[in-house]
Amino acid sequence: MDNKQNLLRKLPAINIILEQARIKQLESRCPHTLISEAASETVQGIREAILAGDETPDTITDLDTIAAVVAKKVQEKISPNLRKVINATGIVLHTNLGRAVLAGSAVKAINDVAANYSNLELDLNTGERGTRYSHIEKLLCRLTGAEAGMTVNNNAAAVLLVLNTLAKDREVIVSRGQLVEIGGSFRIPDVMSQSGALLVEVGTTNKTHLRDYESAVTEDTALLLKVHTSNYKVIGFTAEVSAGELTGLGRKKGIAVYEDLGSGVLVDFMKYGITHEPTVNESIKAGVDIVTFSGDKLFGGPQAGIIVGKKYIIDKIRQNPLTRALRVDKFTLAAMEATLRLYFEEETAVAEIPTLRMIMMPSEEIRLRAEKLQGLLREKTGDSIETEITAGFSQVGGGALPEENLPTFLVSVRPLSMSVNKLEKRLREMEPPILARIQKDRLLFDPRTLLANDCEVIAINLQRIMETG
Ligand SMILES: *Cc1c(COP(=O)(O)O)cnc(C)c1O
Repeated sequence: MDNKQNLLRKLPAINIILEQARIKQLESRCPHTLISEAASETVQGIREAILAGDETPDTITDLDTIAAVVAKKVQEKISPNLRKVINATGIVLHTNLGRAVLAGSAVKAINDVAANYSNLELDLNTGERGTRYSHIEKLLCRLTGAEAGMTVNNNAAAVLLVLNTLAKDREVIVSRGQLVEIGGSFRIPDVMSQSGALLVEVGTTNKTHLRDYESAVTEDTALLLKVHTSNYKVIGFTAEVSAGELTGLGRKKGIAVYEDLGSGVLVDFMKYGITHEPTVNESIKAGVDIVTFSGDKLFGGPQAGIIVGKKYIIDKIRQNPLTRALRVDKFTLAAMEATLRLYFEEETAVAEIPTLRMIMMPSEEIRLRAEKLQGLLREKTGDSIETEITAGFSQVGGGALPEENLPTFLVSVRPLSMSVNKLEKRLREMEPPILARIQKDRLLFDPRTLLANDCEVIAINLQRIMETG
């Protein structure tokens, strides 16, 4: 007890801490209130530690040590919470890491409209009020073959909007095998009930036939819905009705057909040796009346939900009051337009859109990148880690192409003086934070998802960690 009182008495006063040189120099970089708040919090934290602990070391009241803690706290307070990280996981579309990285031209477009006024809702030809959707509609139509198109906040919003506009208080027929949950909170049956549409399930988990849809049609049927089962695959004895067959039935019965493609790609992945992913053009060509897909999955653009299809349906959606609540901002539109323009030539899209470039990266390029990273690590960290290059797999992620294992080369690192878990944690705490994969007693760096000078930054930070422990 005496010792506790003793230590408490030795705690420096706040004003003494604030007069320390290393604290004083912070004043040019951040507000005084933040510094004194950090000092009070630090002293309070130490006071609680003294009262709680039985064998608190005397050094806990050292002025230098306390000043260092305060400085660190101040640094945390002035660093942005949302910030850049280095993705060495090899998961191209990592929802926790912000999904698609934008192309350079999309970033520039955001910058231009952010720092200036723009013609967001002004028709420059007439000088009259225009619509924000006009900037991307022609591009969407040209690239997908659809009659009309627009975009909203995300694909979940697009699904809600389409169902609410076309099927409120009416029936929507969907296969049992397509009642998916995506990313934890998006579930087709839940979105359906939120939209006011009535779900009519047909078929079974593994097999649904055209006759199942046909016999479920009533005069209350508003839509035939097909959902891309993005994040899982049914294998074995399966049967699914194609978009073409479904539109055949839709025509015969006078019912619109809606396809939620999830990812929605504009290039044929098969050409690049990757599993075929249904393209938006294929759906439109098959006669699907309305198609929705994400902007930040395989399309490789900003977060958005893209809606394309028949003009009469898009017109109806625009008039739905919900559309105003789900509308996109000017940054999204700017990035979307710039990304769409890259698709004019497939070669350009594949070269410039980071998502496509990473997924289609030749293994020779990955091997060279791995060798470069390994070389830098050896140079910077000497004998403190063991490295080797091993063959492995990257993933597309983002609930897209769940079965696809993209062959890659990994730089496998084993730290000799600390545990792999500690190294992983220390890398996550660096500036910028570095995220890699742990496998047994090794940390794996996948060069597929590294950008610009990430290799150098990883090597320098690993050096720092190995030097300071
Ligand atoms: C990802 C996905 C969604 C949700 O899209 P967000 O853009 O994440 O809102 C909806 N439907 C399907 C089939 C999906 O794969």
